[in-house]
Amino acid sequence: DENQPYLILQDMVQKTKDVKGGKGECVLYWMRMVDMRLKDNRALAKASKAAKEHGVPLVVLFMFVPQDYIAHDRGARKIDFMLRNLRILKDDLKKLNIPLYTETHSPRRTVPSRVLEFIKSIGCTQLFANMEYEIDELRRDIKLCQLAQQEQGVSIDVLHDRCVVPPGIIKSKQDKDYSVYSPYSKQWFQYINSDPQYLAKSPSPTANDESIHKSEKLRALFDSTLIPDCIPGFELTSEQLAHMESAFPAGEVAASEILDRFLHTKTSKQQLTLEDAFAKGGSSKEKTNSAHTRIHEYGDRRDKIDGDTTSRLSAYLALGVIAARTAEMSDDSESATIKATDGSRKTGVGRWNQEVAWRDFYNNITACFPRTSMGRPFIEKYADLKWELELPEANLEAWKQGMTGYPVVDAAMRCLNKTGWMHNRLRMTTAMFLTKDLMIDWRFGEQYFSQQLVDHDLASNNGGWQWSASTGVDPAPYFRVFNPYLQSEKGDPDGAFIRHFVPELASLKGKELHHPSEAHAEKLGYPKPLIDHFEAKDRAMRRFKDPGAV
Ligand code: FAD
Repeated sequence: DENQPYLILQDMVQKTKDVKGGKGECVLYWMRMVDMRLKDNRALAKASKAAKEHGVPLVVLFMFVPQDYIAHDRGARKIDFMLRNLRILKDDLKKLNIPLYTETHSPRRTVPSRVLEFIKSIGCTQLFANMEYEIDELRRDIKLCQLAQQEQGVSIDVLHDRCVVPPGIIKSKQDKDYSVYSPYSKQWFQYINSDPQYLAKSPSPTANDESIHKSEKLRALFDSTLIPDCIPGFELTSEQLAHMESAFPAGEVAASEILDRFLHTKTSKQQLTLEDAFAKGGSSKEKTNSAHTRIHEYGDRRDKIDGDTTSRLSAYLALGVIAARTAEMSDDSESATIKATDGSRKTGVGRWNQEVAWRDFYNNITACFPRTSMGRPFIEKYADLKWELELPEANLEAWKQGMTGYPVVDAAMRCLNKTGWMHNRLRMTTAMFLTKDLMIDWRFGEQYFSQQLVDHDLASNNGGWQWSASTGVDPAPYFRVFNPYLQSEKGDPDGAFIRHFVPELASLKGKELHHPSEAHAEKLGYPKPLIDHFEAKDRAMRRFKDPGAV
């Protein structure tokens, strides 16, 4: 952790970004899976400006690296969302005479040398990209800078764009990186309130001159590759695909409509699934100026799992289809009630901004404490924790399939399997259940979420799992184990969510739905609980109190 790779990369970029290699034949922007947009994109804007200044065209590169997707447990839904967004980007760029060149590359360790080879092949002397904070990606970019230095004449600039406040800026008085959210977020709001650079928008890229088509080399980039329908090994069924297309429409326009809908429309009842929420109702046409829009109600309703209570913007933020800055800057000028920098926990707006700050906080942790993206617990003593070793596979499988005998856990897991998304409260409940009730190592859960979630983001997923397992930064204290029955009654009082995803229990009423008797469950073909919650909680407390002891 002492050799923070993001700092090594930052240092290298200081040396590589001002290398003078002449204006070259074009400028290259290397788009990654975290910055898939044209609007308010720092590296893209800088690349476009450089191209204009040199009077040369801008070219965009996107690389598919399937080996990376396997190594990082990427899921088919996220890959599909990436491809669908890329298709729109390709068309939008083409309208600006900017080619989006895509290429599939293997093995992943030679990506930097391949990119450099590509740079040279198109006569480019300047490359711009936005930084990714995961360890493998940082190492890749460090290697790219090293190779560029050996070559000479190629300048590489890697910018901060992913967070509202980039990692490493917010430090304690002792110049330490924070591992507790509250003091971090206090400063976070001070930074964005006092320095306009954090919320400043970057201009969209300007069009290339028609003359790009005269260069044989560059013209060929427009048509040489097609965006594939899918990446082998990451196929979705046609039913899954149809669901994803209606629940998560791709593109920047769709992303701002979803944000707009959250800011300006009323919460509708009975919108449980994303299909209900996005496709059938709640379009931004029914705009309202009232104080009862989704975002205003967010403070009170965000923990309710039985409706459309949150923004559902996470998949767009994870791929960078919309900038976190844009989310933070959301401003309702009509009612003038939404302040860009409101961090009060008492209002819906403030509460929501706090969540965007959590996203930055976890990215800050990923960058500053690289062990967290290497599968290690943040609290080192928990590396010795005794996880349950008997029958982990059967219990893990039951958890994955939503067959634990705990209705709220099962409804949540089936929702994840069916839709690729899960409400935050349910992510916490199911993660606690796996790690505390079943005492199964959080890394199995983290991996499964990664494979299923359309909004997978290493920093937030790892942060959420380690929070739930009490092994992470600012975690849930180990003795505060969620009671799944209470979570269920509080979050889904009428049982609408459970009935929707666990239809075999639909006939049960009242408390029975949250905690069915064994006799009833058996009659309905529903499994009996894998474990007694209260006994399991005692076991977890013993193990966490004294990690390493049997
Ligand atoms: P909203 O409530 O509308 O929040 C707005 C945005 O703030 C979100 O889109 C997200 O970008 C950010 N945000 C909200 N809550 C958190 C949080 N607790 N931590 C970090 N950022 C947050 N989020 C992901 O984006 N990707 C993941 O892979 C992911 N895995 C998680 C795993 C676990 C075990 C837990 C407990 C949480 C995880 N989260 C993850 C955080 C959170 O659950 C989701 O961001 C949220 O449910 C997304 O829905 P939304 O967009 O409607 O959120």
